[in-house]
Amino acid sequence: MSVSKLPNVGTTIFTTMSALAHEHGAINLAQGFPNFPIDPLLQEQLLKVARESVHQYAPLQGLPTLREKICNLVAKQYGRSIGGQEVLITAGATQAIFTAIQALVFPGEEVIILDPSYDCYEAPVLLAGAKAIRIPLTDSFEPNWSLIEAKMTQKTKLLLINNPHNPSGKVWSSADFDALEGIMSRFPNLLLLSDEVYEFIAFEKGHQSIHERNTIRDRALIVSSFGKTFHITGWKVGYVVCSDFLMKELLKVHQFLVFSVNSVAQAALANYLDLVDVNELSKFYQDKRDFFRQGLKNSRFELWPAEGSYFQVANIRGISTLSDLEFCCELTIKHGVAAIPISVFNADVKDQGLIRFCYAKTTETLQDAIEKLCKI
Ligand code: PMP
Ligand code: GLN
Repeated sequence: MSVSKLPNVGTTIFTTMSALAHEHGAINLAQGFPNFPIDPLLQEQLLKVARESVHQYAPLQGLPTLREKICNLVAKQYGRSIGGQEVLITAGATQAIFTAIQALVFPGEEVIILDPSYDCYEAPVLLAGAKAIRIPLTDSFEPNWSLIEAKMTQKTKLLLINNPHNPSGKVWSSADFDALEGIMSRFPNLLLLSDEVYEFIAFEKGHQSIHERNTIRDRALIVSSFGKTFHITGWKVGYVVCSDFLMKELLKVHQFLVFSVNSVAQAALANYLDLVDVNELSKFYQDKRDFFRQGLKNSRFELWPAEGSYFQVANIRGISTLSDLEFCCELTIKHGVAAIPISVFNADVKDQGLIRFCYAKTTETLQDAIEKLCKI
């Protein structure tokens, strides 16, 4: 008899919906990845470094040059001075999150996850023998601070937050950070894992980072992903920033999980970081968001505010009484556009009739999708 360590885990919704889109030739606005070419400057750096001596194991913690460039980026964007020893290069944000949880969370401890939540958070908690405490965000996707505080116990080790938020596109306000700081001061042993993979994709409100909060950042692990920032989700390179005492533990796990990350990609990214301005990214995606929203203005989809990340949430209740999952399948198969149902991001699979579109696509793809969606 085989016993599963993760009996309730199946294949991710992103894989499922991408496969369905492929099978039916639908436009894939489901899984979050860009479908346009990468910056030629980055391509050039990749080709350039591929001719150099960069093909053996990178140092365990990541190329020193890349870590130094990340320190410069954090200093420039957030005014925080960190050293290269506080940066770990990971195989995407997914590995950063997995590593952090495995390294720091003990069996029997609790990790707070705010729903709807990205799907890679819970499994590492369960594999650590710990308990995931899934707490719903408000109906407008804001943290419910009084509920969060009420769920804190002696066993709570880690609070996991994600801002800008996937799947909702919500961006936190200053009041949320103030409330977070309050909780962290009342629970001095609480650690924070801040998933900021969309840190450079925030629109009108702008992004505030945990890097800027000096009362809590020393107890935080701040995760980012070059996949999102430079349109290279397939490269799987990200990083986590944390204080030395946390890093010491992360490195113990990292060395046996991957040892080190793709050396060629790291070398190319280290060079590219000197050539690119990450502050152009928000405008780039804001134009896409506006184009997509404008195109759907007269459709029957009710659009939610999209403040950051590259996702647009839409309410389908004016169109259908199907569950959000059934609707997404029908949308893919019958109407040729794939989307993601939000209910799968909720522990209780609560269905609010909401679906998520990814607008990190060419204008042409978005236009094709708009035409199909407006016919519904
Ligand atoms: N966190 C969030 C909120 C995400 O949307 C994603 C998907 N990119 C990840 C983490 C994982 O990032 P990566 O592809 O770098 O592993
Ligand atoms: N982060 C992407 C999304 O939310 C999915 C990445 C993946 O498929 N693992 O769509």
